[in-house]
Amino acid sequence: WYDLAGTATRKDLETYLQLNKEAANLNNFTSGAEMWLNDYEDDTLEVQLENIFEEIRPFYLQLHAYVRHSLKQTYGEEISEDGPIPMHLLGNMWAQSWVNIYDQTTPYPNKQSKGLTKEMLAQNYTALKMFKLAEEFYVSLNMSALPQAFWELSYIEKPTDGREFICHGFANDFFKNSDVAIKMCTRISAESFFTVFHEMGHIYYYLLYKNQPIAYRDGANHGFHEAVGDVFALSASTSKHMHKIGLLKNYEPDEETRVNELYRTALRKVAFLPFSYSLDQYRWALFRGEVKSDEYNCKFWQMRESASGIKPPVQRYKEDFDAPAKYHVSADVEYLRYLVAHILQFQFHKSACILAGEYDPNNPNSYLSECDIYQSTKAGNAFKEMLSMGLSKPWPDALEILTGQRTMSASALMEYFKPLQDWLEKKNKETGAQVGWKSEFKCLSKSGAEKPIGAGIIIVLFVTICVGMV
Ligand SMILES: [Zn+2]
Repeated sequence: WYDLAGTATRKDLETYLQLNKEAANLNNFTSGAEMWLNDYEDDTLEVQLENIFEEIRPFYLQLHAYVRHSLKQTYGEEISEDGPIPMHLLGNMWAQSWVNIYDQTTPYPNKQSKGLTKEMLAQNYTALKMFKLAEEFYVSLNMSALPQAFWELSYIEKPTDGREFICHGFANDFFKNSDVAIKMCTRISAESFFTVFHEMGHIYYYLLYKNQPIAYRDGANHGFHEAVGDVFALSASTSKHMHKIGLLKNYEPDEETRVNELYRTALRKVAFLPFSYSLDQYRWALFRGEVKSDEYNCKFWQMRESASGIKPPVQRYKEDFDAPAKYHVSADVEYLRYLVAHILQFQFHKSACILAGEYDPNNPNSYLSECDIYQSTKAGNAFKEMLSMGLSKPWPDALEILTGQRTMSASALMEYFKPLQDWLEKKNKETGAQVGWKSEFKCLSKSGAEKPIGAGIIIVLFVTICVGMV
């Protein structure tokens, strides 16, 4: 895949970078990086993100250590105890989400639920039922039912008439009355159910800001748009909610179930953070001309290793070009929005949960991960007020309406995962799992000439990280 979808585009890269620079300059930006970052209207964004990453790092390292140690039980020598994890063992082609290794690495296997997907199939769920349930969730928050146009214009299943159809979920705003639609090949699975929530978040955002002037009919920033559906999915995916809608027979919250659930969410959302960060840090560096042309591929893997502690399954070379094997890179789509969304959704969630009376930060027996804002008009109204603004005000103004805060912060995310972080720290100590990784990165040419670019820098970085942890 990487050879065919990545390396094959190498010949066009210089043209792409040249056009990108030209477009940026024509718009009065020094490079494409500044042009992308301009969406966030904040010169300190890069520094803010660095601070956020510093805050999250100790937790990520514990998660990484636990996963590597658990996988070692299966793969033995294939994995080194203190090296980066070979990414093909993480259940995803880009190692961007590790949720597919959940069953293999569950903290408490005996407490594992039978699986929502199985239950959905047993209850004869259909794509329509999943969409109706998601709509009902939004309506329970005092939002309107979806307009008739939505049902007429949407494709919620793959057409069977043999036409070409791209299954990647997509929510469309036609900028005309209430014409909105979702196109996706819904499967009957829990994952697909949460994708419905995600796409529907875009739809409700479109509908809520539809009375704004055309230029303001957009998210407060790209990250906001991606966060809306996810934040409702955080509630909808709790066992508490699944119990309410009859997908889970027994629901007794206890510590082991809580750790399992948090672990599953962390595999999906926390493993994603350094991935998304390095994807755009890499492109900013390319756009700014900071990477020499014979180091394009090396730099990519060097950054991936340093951020996520993963490595490609086989040695990659200078002659390869792997970044465009990720859709958003070859399609020239900024990726920071997903990172921002992953931070913001926890900020949104915490504030909404407090409004809904589902979470009390001062009560040690109250857990953010067990909050379900379903049927809370109060939380729903705060969302409506924030989302109706669209892009008419700078995003800190929008953020302030729901959360009272004007900057992005990782503190809500850290609060959400605190019980898991405590558990991982204890567990890793017990098992002797090493924390952190030694760089194995090598910048090699297929002809055999080795050039250790920046290897020294990586080692220094690693040492700083390790000193803080061991
Ligand atoms: Zn989306």
